[in-house]
Amino acid sequence: MSIPVLMYHHVLPKDGFICSSIENFTKQMNFLKQNGYYTLSSKEFYMYKKGKFKAPKKSVFITFDDGWRNNAVYAYPILKKLELKATIFLVTGWINKASEKKEEFEALEHRECKKIAPINPHKVIMSWDDIESCNDVFDFHSHTATHRDEYYGKLSWQEDLAISRDTIKQQLGFEDKHLCWPRGTFNESLIKQAKEVGYEVFYTTQRGVNLADNNSLYIKRIAVKKDEKWLKKNMFLFSNNIMGSLYAKIKPQ
Ligand SMILES: [Zn+2]
Repeated sequence: MSIPVLMYHHVLPKDGFICSSIENFTKQMNFLKQNGYYTLSSKEFYMYKKGKFKAPKKSVFITFDDGWRNNAVYAYPILKKLELKATIFLVTGWINKASEKKEEFEALEHRECKKIAPINPHKVIMSWDDIESCNDVFDFHSHTATHRDEYYGKLSWQEDLAISRDTIKQQLGFEDKHLCWPRGTFNESLIKQAKEVGYEVFYTTQRGVNLADNNSLYIKRIAVKKDEKWLKKNMFLFSNNIMGSLYAKIKPQ
């Protein structure tokens, strides 16, 4: 058995680049609910990888990257209604900036978000208050402090990893073990640095299977596209060790 880990970024009125439309996201979540899928919390996924949590046969781990505010505005109510759980990987420096001044939400597509983020961060990025108000559905982990984008200044990798973990500790009160690599960039030396800071579970952007094999260095994720039919096919493929591994070799990203 393998647990598929889904990777989302934006949920907005229309489909787009790394963005699911509200309609398609709703259909996908309804598909999971109606077909009896269990959505794991990050803690359960961590225990599953260690071989210490017997996940139901139909399990899935839903993740969102970056901390876009549209996750709180559009994805949250859909997940809450269906009683599904998900994890958001936060770029902690962005969240800090978005928390400085309250602004009106804008439903902007990815490129527009990236343009406006350095100027009016809270229009598109979640604040710590937004995060608190949706923590009954989402749990939150590290996606570095800067995402290696220089919106609000430059940091060394060392600082980027340590500051993000410290910020999570300060704001959310726990020692974070989960790190999602920004843009899927990592190498063995970065893994070593991140382990020294205290991270144990590392999320990539590569497709593949996730077995209960006590190795959490290369969590495989599926970038979600299209609609519930696409999801159904991919859930089927990546729940199966052999098919999932083969398919990931043919289409690694
Ligand atoms: Zn990211």
